[in-house]
Amino acid sequence: MTNYLTYLECSRCSAIYDHESPQNLCTKCEKPLFARYDLDKIAHEWDRASLSAREASMWRYAELLPVVDTANIVSLGESMTPIIRTKRLGNMLGVDELWVKDESRLPTGSFKARGLAMAVSKAKELGLKKLAIPSAGNAATALSIYAARAGMEANIFMPKDAPAFNRNTCQLAGANVTLIDGLITDAGKIVAQRKSQEGWFDVSTLKEPYRVEGKKTMGLELAEQFDWKLPDVIIYPTGGGTGIVGMWKVFQELEEIGWIGAKRPRMISVQSAGCAPIVKAWEEGKTEAEPWQNAKTIAAGLRVPQAVGDFLILDAIRHSNGVAIAVTDAEIQEGLKTLATSEGILSCPEGAATIAGLKKLIDGKMVNRSEQIVLFNTGGYQ
Ligand SMILES: *Cc1c(COP(=O)(O)O)cnc(C)c1O
Repeated sequence: MTNYLTYLECSRCSAIYDHESPQNLCTKCEKPLFARYDLDKIAHEWDRASLSAREASMWRYAELLPVVDTANIVSLGESMTPIIRTKRLGNMLGVDELWVKDESRLPTGSFKARGLAMAVSKAKELGLKKLAIPSAGNAATALSIYAARAGMEANIFMPKDAPAFNRNTCQLAGANVTLIDGLITDAGKIVAQRKSQEGWFDVSTLKEPYRVEGKKTMGLELAEQFDWKLPDVIIYPTGGGTGIVGMWKVFQELEEIGWIGAKRPRMISVQSAGCAPIVKAWEEGKTEAEPWQNAKTIAAGLRVPQAVGDFLILDAIRHSNGVAIAVTDAEIQEGLKTLATSEGILSCPEGAATIAGLKKLIDGKMVNRSEQIVLFNTGGYQ
C-alpha cells in the first residue's frame, strides 16, 4: 500500500516539520502540528469503491492515515462503530432524523482507542519505547493497553479521583501509574517537566500529531455511513477537542480528494457547566479560551480546564455555523436515563451530555425538525 504522508505542518503558523522523527508542538509558536498528505495524488489513485472490499475497521482508510508501513499497526480490532437510528427518542424530542454514533464498542470502551491506537502505531514506526501521558481517565486506559500490546512502557499521570475503571485498567495492563492531586492540566505539567530526563515521548492530546489522525476516522466513518453526504448537525461532547478538530480536518481532506462536497455539518460542542472553557470563550466571541478554575463534573472526559487546541475547536464551531453549549451534571444524569429508557443505549456521561445539549438546541430553535442530527456517544457506561 502506498503511503501519502508528506510532512507535518503547524496548524497556526504553517511551519513545516518532517514526519520521520518524533515531533510534539511547533517549536516556534507551541501550537499543534497536523499531518499533511499528498491529496492530489490520493485523488488520482484512490477510489472510494475500493472500500467495500476492505475490513470494517478504522484502518480501511489507510491512504488518509499516517502509518507509513502497515506492519507497524498496533491493533486490537478497532471496528467501525454503528450509527444507530433513534426514532423513539427523536419523536420524544421532536426531531425526525436522529442518530447516535456509538463509540462504546471500541477496545477499552471509549473512542480514545482510535487516537491511541494511531499514536502507539506511529510511536512503533518511529522506534519509540517509552511513552507518557497526562489523562482525565480514558486516554490513560487506552494508552496502557496499546502500549502493552506493542511491548512499550506507558507512564500515566492522572487525577487521583479519575474513574476507578481507568485507575484499575492501567494498573492491570502494567503501566506506571502516578495519581496526582490535581487535574489533567497539572498532570500535563509533570509530564512536560520530566519527559526529557526520563526519555519519555509525550503523547498528550494534540501535543502529539497522530492521536487526532486516529480520531478523524470518526468523520471518515460518518461520511461513508451517510453515503458521502454529511449530516446537518454533529453534537460532540468536548474536552480536549481532538474529535471535533479531527473530524473538521478530515472533512476538508475529503473535499479536496473529491469524495464530498462543500457542505459541512454544524459542529456543536457540548461541555459541562462545571468545566466549560470553550463555551465561555464562544459566548464572549474569543478565538482562544482562558483556563477554567475549579473544574468539576461527573463527566470525567469533559474535565479539561485548558485545551492546547482551543483555537482549532472554536474555529471549527465558527466556520460551521455551530455553537458551544453547557449542560449541568443533573441534565447529564437525566440524559443517561433518557438514552437508556427510550432506546436501550447505555452511554457514558459525556455521551449523555449530547442529549441534554440537543434539548437546548431544540428549545432555542437552533435545529429544525427535519435535519439529520448525529449525537456522539463517546464511550460505554461503566
Ligand atoms: C476524552 C473524552 C471526551 C472528550 O474528547 P475530546 O475529543 O478530547 O474532546 C468525551 N467523552 C469521553 C468518554 C472521553 O473519554
